[in-house]
Amino acid sequence: MSKSNMTYLSSGKAKDIYETADGNLLFEFTDRVTAFDGKKRAEYQEKGEIIYRLAEYWFGILEAEKVHTHYIGCPTPTRMIVRHPDIIPVEVIRRNYVAGSLLRRYEAGEVKLPEGVKPEEGAPLPGGMIEFTTKFEEVDRPVDMEEILSNNWMNGLEIEHITDMTSRINTILIRELYDRGIILADFKVEYGREKNSEILLADEVGTPDGCRFRDKTEFEDGVISSLDKDVFRKGTGDLSTVYGELFKRLQNQEEM
Ligand code: UDP
Repeated sequence: MSKSNMTYLSSGKAKDIYETADGNLLFEFTDRVTAFDGKKRAEYQEKGEIIYRLAEYWFGILEAEKVHTHYIGCPTPTRMIVRHPDIIPVEVIRRNYVAGSLLRRYEAGEVKLPEGVKPEEGAPLPGGMIEFTTKFEEVDRPVDMEEILSNNWMNGLEIEHITDMTSRINTILIRELYDRGIILADFKVEYGREKNSEILLADEVGTPDGCRFRDKTEFEDGVISSLDKDVFRKGTGDLSTVYGELFKRLQNQEEM
């Protein structure tokens, strides 16, 4: 599929986005990786292909489970065709265990943890937790229901709907990951609204760029061993090796 009949739209943290002649979008998964709102950057060979293959894998599983997504197909490795809904300007974070910004914000006195939850990395959040952040501001900022409603970013029914959809996605991901010895600590998803107002899952899902995965055996021994972008954020490991290991476990194969 040639880019000559497409319109370049934008470049995100890791993807370049084009509009196709028939009004869909083409995602080109690049080897870029960024953290801390773009302050830390690098490129890793084959990263784009791993992310693309994992996103394709998860969209296939979710569609089979009747989760409505924007996924259409993949013309070539690293390129994905998706629908072009209006993106809801709110990112949705679903958490199963304490990690990342939740702990940082707790330590800064900006957020409370549910009663009985220990303020430490890896502490379980019984029943889970959902949070919303801005999508189109320079730095992602947590937002509450009141702000979402008063800005008309979503109505009450839509908030309820995407909360349910995110819980279903969480359940499906946990189920698939469990047998591969992987714990899902948290993840981020985005949603779009089609012309008929139907909501669909957008962006990418189930990739180590947007989820925190932990090795289950180590986790049960109290050791946090990340199979995700935390190795890049914290400088604790080689991103290519870790993403390759995750890919192998999910595909049940020796090599990519
Ligand atoms: N996340 C993401 N994109 C963002 C912010 C967060 O994909 O712009 C993912 C992140 O990888 C993690 C989850 O959402 O799996 C929760 O992230 P958190 O709020 O803890 O923020 P972080 O520590 O990544 O700054």
